[in-house]
Amino acid sequence: MILGHKKQWGFLRNKFELGQLSHAYLLTGERQLGKKTFAKEIAKIINCTGENKSCGECNGCRLIEKGSHPDLLIVERKEDQKEIQIAQIRDAQNFLGYKSYYGGYKTVIVDNAEEMSIEAQNCFLKTLEEPKGRTIIFMISSNPALLLSTIYSRCQNVKFFKVKDSEIKEYLRSQGLKSQDAELVSLISEGRPGRADEFVKNPDKLSEDKNAVQEIIKIADSELGAKFQFSKSTDLEGERLKKIFEVLQRYFRHLLLLKTGAGNANGFYPEPTAKQKSYSVEKIKNILELIEKVDYKISSTNASPKLALEVVLMQL
Ligand SMILES: [Zn+2]
Repeated sequence: MILGHKKQWGFLRNKFELGQLSHAYLLTGERQLGKKTFAKEIAKIINCTGENKSCGECNGCRLIEKGSHPDLLIVERKEDQKEIQIAQIRDAQNFLGYKSYYGGYKTVIVDNAEEMSIEAQNCFLKTLEEPKGRTIIFMISSNPALLLSTIYSRCQNVKFFKVKDSEIKEYLRSQGLKSQDAELVSLISEGRPGRADEFVKNPDKLSEDKNAVQEIIKIADSELGAKFQFSKSTDLEGERLKKIFEVLQRYFRHLLLLKTGAGNANGFYPEPTAKQKSYSVEKIKNILELIEKVDYKISSTNASPKLALEVVLMQL
């Protein structure tokens, strides 16, 4: 099911009905907006055998939902790897080379496409240049600037934006969240269905997140020594640093809203400390910019995560 993104949905559904789908789309927009879910839903339309396309009930739809449809391949970075490897792209090319199992389209979804190594991207170019038969490729990226421009220019770009709070709230309620929790979760989801969904799947997440936020905010307010100790002792592998940055960004955005009178204390974030209360609007904006810059550097270079965390913590 898709939350929001009605325009994009209408656009691609229409293209499908007219038989005018392009062979490669680049779905761009911030993390957790539901771009991968969207691509899977389009794959359902394409492979649905029900009367109502993307019915969710036929064999095709169910196999896609389970991730086991023989005509759909999802490529993503392996957990123990830093990049999507060229071998994975070769596998995808082989996959596209075979005939469709059910006689329809072959679909490949490359999640976080900017994580492809340069060799992998170069290898993929050929497929994007000369697509064979009925194939459709969805590249998904929250950071398309990191893709080779030659990849970028061979795909049709579809942009994704944040989803309205009211839609997210309604969805959360429909999934059984209490009104008060739905309010809070939609607030901290910041228009990202992917994030909202994490709270639906894991009912303990709200209190877990609350604790994590309080811990990181405490560190942000502590002495330099404690900050260094934190960055030294914290395992920053995988997504951990991104999560820390995300929490800090959310908190400082919340602080900014409080400063400008647009936000409200909502019981999720701790009461700002005296030091944080003294920050000017400009200082908060600078902090947010810094986190964004450092976060980008981490994704685009081999910069040390520990150093990156220290650079940010020192400014708080
Ligand atoms: Zn179906």
